[in-house]
Amino acid sequence: MRIKRLRIAGFKSFVDPADLRIEPGLTGVVGPNGCGKSNLLEALRWTMGEASAKSLRGAEMEDVIFAGTATRPPRDFAEVSILAELPTADGVEETEIVRRIERGAGSAYRIDGRDVRARDVALLFADAATGAHSPALVSQGKIGAVIAAKPADRRAMLEEAAGIAGLHVRRRDAEQKLRATEANLARLDEIIADQD
Ligand code: ATP
Repeated sequence: MRIKRLRIAGFKSFVDPADLRIEPGLTGVVGPNGCGKSNLLEALRWTMGEASAKSLRGAEMEDVIFAGTATRPPRDFAEVSILAELPTADGVEETEIVRRIERGAGSAYRIDGRDVRARDVALLFADAATGAHSPALVSQGKIGAVIAAKPADRRAMLEEAAGIAGLHVRRRDAEQKLRATEANLARLDEIIADQD
């Protein structure tokens, strides 16, 4: 997956809509302390489905919405869009992933204009071997965490790099469906036995 563009509006310090084109090659973000460099990476992780407000340095998820300054009123919503190039059988295709949060209304996700669930977005990024918790997103303190990681956590990183992380989610779903079907079958057996 290649991220081509990030559009941010009302997210943390990005009160005015910002459109960032990410060209091939290495991209660096430079600026003085507190200008919003980490907020940029957080906008990316948030759109990929980050569910922990704490890991976005907030107490509640709504804290990502622009909170206002001495000169500007707070916003009611934040919206971030990622334009990504995904590999397909016959080349690459562009996909737009959008997450939006409104005060009092929670988060909503869209993939190419269709309303989807958070897990659909998580699966899309897991299949592309990236995501909100991807080792590819190296935030402050992460290097130390990788070195100190337990073997099971290290294995999860390798699985993610191999692009099979999404399979675990699908396996859990399939096992849940299997258990529900087994329970239905057992119930059916009881009903049939009662009628004999
Ligand atoms: P450093 O180099 O110190 O890590 P940085 O460039 O990474 O700084 P960030 O930590 O991304 O900067 O941005 C911090 C700024 O974002 C602060 O000025 C903070 O007030 C502002 N900010 C964070 N959340 C919000 C919010 N919800 N509304 C308005 N401003 C916010």
